[in-house]
Amino acid sequence: MKDRYSRQTMFSAIGDKGQRNIQKKKVLIIGAGALGTANAELLTRAGVGHLTIVDRDYVEWSNLQRQQLYLERDAHDQIPKAIAIKKHLTAINHDVSIVACIKDVNASNLEVMAEGHDLMIDATDNFETRWIINDVSQKLSIPWIYGACVGSFGMSFTVIPGKTPCMNCLWKAIPFQSMTCETGGIIAPVVQMVTAHQSAEAMKILVEDWAALRKTFVTFDLWNNQFQSIDMTKAKREDCLSCGKERTYPFLDYTSGMKTMVLCGRDTVQVRPPKPVDLNINHLLSQLKKAGYKAQANPYLVHIHYEKERMVLFKDGRALIHGTNDMAYAKRVYQKILG
Ligand SMILES: [Zn+2]
Repeated sequence: MKDRYSRQTMFSAIGDKGQRNIQKKKVLIIGAGALGTANAELLTRAGVGHLTIVDRDYVEWSNLQRQQLYLERDAHDQIPKAIAIKKHLTAINHDVSIVACIKDVNASNLEVMAEGHDLMIDATDNFETRWIINDVSQKLSIPWIYGACVGSFGMSFTVIPGKTPCMNCLWKAIPFQSMTCETGGIIAPVVQMVTAHQSAEAMKILVEDWAALRKTFVTFDLWNNQFQSIDMTKAKREDCLSCGKERTYPFLDYTSGMKTMVLCGRDTVQVRPPKPVDLNINHLLSQLKKAGYKAQANPYLVHIHYEKERMVLFKDGRALIHGTNDMAYAKRVYQKILG
C-alpha cells in the first residue's frame, strides 16, 4: 500500500506535494462510455480523492470493443454504466470515494451536480451536453477538458475560466460540425489517445501546475498519421455570451416539459418526463406483464418489447426507445406504455 503511488511521486512535477493535492481533489466525469471509463480508470489509479460519474445509459455488447472496464457480464445483465463503473473502479482503488449517478445531464441539473468539484471531464458524445458543461464551467469557475473522437480522429482542449477561451469562443474557429455524430464508427486507440491528453491535463490541474497546461487545441488522425496543435491564445472573444463581459450563459436556459431527443448515430430516441419520478420497478414490471407486454427487469431498469421497438425505462422515468429516430412516434410509444 505504501508504494502504491511511488512511481508517480518520483516524477518530479508531481512529487509528494502533488500527490497530496491529487488525493484532495474532486473530479466530475460526464459520461461513462469510452472516454469516461478510460479517464476514470487513470484518475482512480492515480489516487484522485473523489470521483463523481454520471451516465444515462446501460452497458451493451457494442460497447465492449472500446469501453474499458466493462465486462461481458455487464452487457448480458444490461447493467447501467454508472453502477458497473463504480463497482470496477472500487475494485481497482478502494481509497477513492466514488459517487455514480444514473442520470441524463441537462441544463436543469448540471450546475447542482458540479458544485464543489475542482474539475469536469467531458466524456459525452454530443454537443448539446458540452454547451451546458461549458456554461456551468464559466458560471461556477470550474475548469473542464473537452474530448471527442470518431473514426480514427480525435480532439481535445482544456478550458480554464478566466484564462483560456471557452468552447463558445472557439465555435467559429474549429470545424466541430463533422464531429457531432458518431456515424463513422470508431477504433479504440483513438479513445486512448484522447484520454491520454485529457487525463494528463487533468493531473496538471489537480497538482496545480498551471504553467504546464497545453494551451493549444489538439487534433489528430491516428489512421492517416496526422497531428495538429493549434494555438488558441487569441481566440477569446470579448462578446462571447458564455465567458465575455456581458455573459448570459445561453445554454443554461431550461424550459420544462417532456423532452425527446434522437441519440446520434444510434437509432435511438430518449424521452425524458417533465419531472423526474421514482418508479417502483417490480410493481411496473408486473403491471406491464399483466397488460401483455414482454418485459424483463434488473434493479435499475425495465426492458420492454413493443412491436418492432425496444424500450428501456429507468427508475427516474427516462426512457430509451431503440429502433427508431422518429421523436413523435417515440413519445407516443412512451405515453402508451406508461399510460
Ligand atoms: Zn467564450
